[in-house]
Amino acid sequence: MGRRLIRGLSGVTVFLVTVALLSVRHHGAQETAQYLGLGEGMSENPEQRAKVSPEDVAGGDGSRQKDLQAHPQDEYKTRGGLKLEDIFIAVKTTKRFHQSRMELLLDTWISRAREQTYVFTDEEDEALKRRMGDHVVFSNCSAEHSHLALSCKMAAEFDAFLASSQSWFCHLDDDNYLNPQALLKLLSSYSAAWDVYIGKPSLNRPIRASETLPNNKTKSVRFWFATGGAGFCISRKLASKMVPWASGRNFLSTSELIHLPDDCTMGYIIECKVGGQLLSSSLFHSHLENLQLIPSTQLTQQVTLSYGVFENKLNIIELSGPFSPQEDPSSRFRSLHCHLYPDTSWCLQPGGW
Ligand code: UDP
Ligand code: MN
Repeated sequence: MGRRLIRGLSGVTVFLVTVALLSVRHHGAQETAQYLGLGEGMSENPEQRAKVSPEDVAGGDGSRQKDLQAHPQDEYKTRGGLKLEDIFIAVKTTKRFHQSRMELLLDTWISRAREQTYVFTDEEDEALKRRMGDHVVFSNCSAEHSHLALSCKMAAEFDAFLASSQSWFCHLDDDNYLNPQALLKLLSSYSAAWDVYIGKPSLNRPIRASETLPNNKTKSVRFWFATGGAGFCISRKLASKMVPWASGRNFLSTSELIHLPDDCTMGYIIECKVGGQLLSSSLFHSHLENLQLIPSTQLTQQVTLSYGVFENKLNIIELSGPFSPQEDPSSRFRSLHCHLYPDTSWCLQPGGW
């Protein structure tokens, strides 16, 4: 039991961390909320949602092999009529990260959202194919970190969603932990029949860009965008309005038009072309923010978390166990996963993956 509990911080530390968190992290969110005409917390409509008990959240059982399969009991979880299977989850990766990043995600959250998750990469890989089956898409995009290569993959993700019958599109990077139940809870406050674009703004103000016009003149544009590194979601209704700028080759052309990467291009299409607005949620996290500032008691309620390097230091969530920093060093995602799904076989035998 002790292993399952996140060791609490002392009261004073919690207070100081919370104050720091509110002043640093929410500063931007507040501005965004004002811009959007929203209150501090995003309004959620409890009437639209069914109750989910802790047992529901901790589904699954048995052997490791089983953990990697879809969990039928998870698939049919609903909140306010929305099911996990209504969400199309796209994970962007590249050959270089198949082992170092994807294995961790496959062992953890993807094992609990296997049926709705698709991985988009750039090179064939038998090992990845064995684990993901036809849920891995080998795009023809080049394996570079260039605007073009990244936009090419985002276009493949968006097209695959358009071809699906799901009602929500969610994009994630391969250094994100997604909590499927928290995502379901968040999205069930909205309808996919509305124009919804939700995520964490990258900046605390709209980005300015220069749009190239057909006569080679330029026009200055301003828009909000959700940082791709924290993940974001788009409703079916909004996605269908984006088609002229975002489907097929259009996404690349639009991205070239404003000379910005894929996540900015999404924001540009939504705000400048379709007239939509970004809804700011503080439940999405990239490694561009200090992840240590998220109180450990609130980690299991976040929709996404990340890890990486921030200002030359390793930036990871603060979680004391069940695994030691040596056993779960780079991200703490295995430990987080065990708090969410304590019945996972390797959570019962640390080091057993
Ligand atoms: N990525 C990619 N091709 C590359 C490099 C990165 O598709 O050549 C993907 C990577 O798998 C990840 C996202 O782009 O999902 C962001 O990459 P990374 O986390 O390395 O960089 P960041 O932009 O977060 O600093
Ligand atoms: Mn990253």
